[in-house]
Amino acid sequence: MSVNLFDTIIIGGGPAGAGAAVYAARKKLQTMLICEEFGGQSLVSDNIENWLGELRISGKELSERLEKHVRAQKDVQIKIPERVNEVSEIKSNTFEVKTDAGGLYTSKTLIIASGGKRKHLEVPGESRLINSGMAYCSTCDAPFYQDQEVAVTGGGNSALETVIDLIPYARKIYLLIRGEQFKGDPVLQEKIPVSDQVQIIYRAEVLEILGEQKITGLRYADKKNGGEKQLDVTGVFVAIGRIPNSDFVRHLVDTNQYGEILIDHKTAATSKRGIFAAGDVTNDPFKQNNISTGDGVRAALSAYNYILDIQKYSPCAEPQD
Ligand SMILES: Cc1cc2nc3c(=O)[nH]c(=O)nc-3n(C[C@H](O)[C@H](O)[C@H](O)COP(=O)(O)OP(=O)(O)OC[C@H]3O[C@@H](n4cnc5c(N)ncnc54)[C@H](O)[C@@H]3O)c2cc1C
Repeated sequence: MSVNLFDTIIIGGGPAGAGAAVYAARKKLQTMLICEEFGGQSLVSDNIENWLGELRISGKELSERLEKHVRAQKDVQIKIPERVNEVSEIKSNTFEVKTDAGGLYTSKTLIIASGGKRKHLEVPGESRLINSGMAYCSTCDAPFYQDQEVAVTGGGNSALETVIDLIPYARKIYLLIRGEQFKGDPVLQEKIPVSDQVQIIYRAEVLEILGEQKITGLRYADKKNGGEKQLDVTGVFVAIGRIPNSDFVRHLVDTNQYGEILIDHKTAATSKRGIFAAGDVTNDPFKQNNISTGDGVRAALSAYNYILDIQKYSPCAEPQD
């Protein structure tokens, strides 16, 4: 298939990009999907228990299924592994996409589904124990910590939300905050009951995650009282923020203070006509696989409607009855 001007270029091969690709193909849009890898962030997860239709699936299996479904669409040209470095608007309704592999592609619309990453603590033991007690998503993983003692690190809203998600499950939750106080919203703080179940430790800096096969503890510097301390926890939830992969498009679309792309949640449209965005890269408050997939579907259907619209008003369009 040789296409000079695509109807849509989807950037991302996670749940949002895959959802967009399958629906764009069903609308017979000339589509290109560019991604570094299929599957997205939960690729590293061993155990996903909330992907609808599957009681349990690994991130790898999920990734393979998404890829298979996208590859089954004849009208989708796939560029993988390729990383988009730059997008620009070269004229009305025409965007240009440049990649690290020297690719230069043009399209009437763009669907940004480039997701994001959870910030890591970057301390010894962390990378070794991912999937063995290190967790970055409490909506996904809180139920695995029934009756266990866990630590949560972070002092903002996502840390507070993580504690709230863990309250029905964990026996004891230590919330480790680097500063002297919370930066989270008071409404969220009020949702944390004053009880022995949650213990807040201020001015704590995590030094190391302990354990070989599974987490057995966490070591931190107690900046308030001095010295180092250890907590015998079996899970560590990191809630110190996310980084959306939106750098390459921030000059074209409005973003919030975190760099998340602002969208109209009804249409997935961004502030720039012809650019749509879906999934974790947007300001959608819920970062989940199922939600990203639905967002991608919405973006593809909106891109389709948009293309019908621009064709209708183009000077070469046939008169309509
Ligand atoms: C460890 C972990 C476990 C999780 N477990 C669950 C779970 O159990 N259940 C659940 O619902 N959610 C879970 N999540 C959250 C879930 O993974 C995300 O909400 C979901 O992956 C977001 O999908 P997305 O398609 O928007 O973005 P992503 O999954 O982030 O996918 C982004 C895609 O864009 C590509 N990309 C990025 N930048 C570029 C670029 N410049 N050029 C080209 N391609 C690019 C990437 O290669 C990737 O294909 C988990 C997250 C993590 C980190």
